[in-house]
Amino acid sequence: MKVWKATCLSLKIEIQQILIMHNEKVDVLIVGAGPAGLSCAKALGDSNLNVLVLEKNKIVGPKVCAGGITGLAPGKELPAGKAVRFHNQHLFVNDRQSLIRLEQPISMIDRRALGDLQTGELKQFDNVRVRTGKRVVKLTREHVVTRDGGRISFRYLVGADGATSVVRRHLGLTTRFYAGIQYILGTVHDRCCWFVRPRRLRTGYAWIFPHTNFTSAGVYFNPKLVTFSKAKKCLVSILDKHNLDYSDARFESAPINCMYYGIKFGNILLAGEAAGLVSAASGEGIPYALTSGEDIGRHILNPWYDFDKICCLLRYKRRQEMILKAMDSLSPLLQEMMFTLFMKLMMNERVRSHIEGAA
Ligand SMILES: Cc1cc2nc3c(=O)[nH]c(=O)nc-3n(C[C@H](O)[C@H](O)[C@H](O)COP(=O)(O)OP(=O)(O)OC[C@H]3O[C@@H](n4cnc5c(N)ncnc54)[C@H](O)[C@@H]3O)c2cc1C
Repeated sequence: MKVWKATCLSLKIEIQQILIMHNEKVDVLIVGAGPAGLSCAKALGDSNLNVLVLEKNKIVGPKVCAGGITGLAPGKELPAGKAVRFHNQHLFVNDRQSLIRLEQPISMIDRRALGDLQTGELKQFDNVRVRTGKRVVKLTREHVVTRDGGRISFRYLVGADGATSVVRRHLGLTTRFYAGIQYILGTVHDRCCWFVRPRRLRTGYAWIFPHTNFTSAGVYFNPKLVTFSKAKKCLVSILDKHNLDYSDARFESAPINCMYYGIKFGNILLAGEAAGLVSAASGEGIPYALTSGEDIGRHILNPWYDFDKICCLLRYKRRQEMILKAMDSLSPLLQEMMFTLFMKLMMNERVRSHIEGAA
C-alpha cells in the first residue's frame, strides 16, 4: 500500500512538472537568439520582467552571413581579439581599383563568436533565460507552441526570428527578398574588397571579407534582376582572378528580407530581419538587428520611449533605398558610370567624411 501511495505521489509530481513545462507563462517571450533577439534580451536584463528567449538551433550564433559590421552600429564595439578591423577598403568597379580609407573601420566577426559574446553578456541577469533547440511552430496573441509540444504564454512577444520569421507570417506581412551567397574559404585573405559589376550583378556587389581564421567571399543581389547561377558565376570569376582557391570551400546561401512595415503590432513586436530591417542597397542587417532589439527592450520597459535609435537608422535605410531605386532604373552602362563617379567622390576626404558622418 505504502509503495502504491509513493508511486502515485511521484507520478502526480511528474505530471504537474510536465504541465508547468508545457504551460509556462513569461512577461516577454523572444523568438530567435540572433543579434536582434539577444540585444533585446540584454536591454531587458536586470528588470523585474521574466524574459525567455527561444532558439530553434542547438547552438546560438551560426548563420549564413559575412559578419561585416560597419560604423552604423555605434556603441556596439566588439572586444579586441573577437573581430578583425579594416579601415582600408579596396573597391573595384569592373577591373578599376581604388583604395579608400574609412574613418570608422569595418569589423569582421564570426557569427558564432558574436552569439557567444551576446549570450555571455546575458549570464549576469537572473531574469533572462535562453533556451535552445526550441522551434516555435505556431502562435496566437497570447501564446506560442514549440515543435516539441510546449506552450508558453506571454505579455509581449518579440519576433526576432530572421528573414523567414514565423511571427511576421502570423501578422500577415509580406516580404521582399534579396539574396546572399558565399563561399567560406579556409585561408585568410589580406584585404577587404568590394566588387561592382553592373553588367553581371546590376546594383548588387561581391565582397571578400577576411576574418581571423577564414574568409567570406560572396555576392549580394536582387534575385528579380540577377539569377542565382549568374551571381555564382560572377563570384567564381572574381575568385579565379584573385587566385583564391574555393575547391574545398563551403558554399552557402540565404534570403534577406528588406521589406519594413513597422515594429509594434499591439503586444507583438518585430526586430531585425523579421521586421525587414536590412538596407536593400547594401544587405547590411547586423547593426539594424542590434539597434532594433535594444530599442524594443527599452520600449517595453518604458512605453514612452519611441524607438528613437532605430528611427535614425530607418532614415538612413530609406535614403539608401531611394538611391538604389534610381540606380536600378539606369542601364548597366550608366550604372557603371555612376559607380565610377561614386568611387572618385569617395577618394575625396571631405566628401567621404560627409558620407560617413551621414550614416
Ligand atoms: C550571405 C549573407 C551575408 C550577409 N552579410 C552581412 C554582413 O556582412 N553584415 C551585415 O550587417 N549583415 C549581413 N547579412 C545580413 C545579416 O545576416 C542579417 O540581417 C542579420 O543576421 C539579422 O539578424 P536577426 O537577429 O534579425 O536575424 P538572424 O540573425 O537570422 O537570427 C534569427 C534567429 O532566429 C532563429 N529562429 C528562426 N526561426 C525560428 C523559430 N521558428 N523558432 C525559434 N528560433 C527561430 C534562427 O535560428 C536565428 O538564430 C548577410 C546575409 C547573408 C544572407
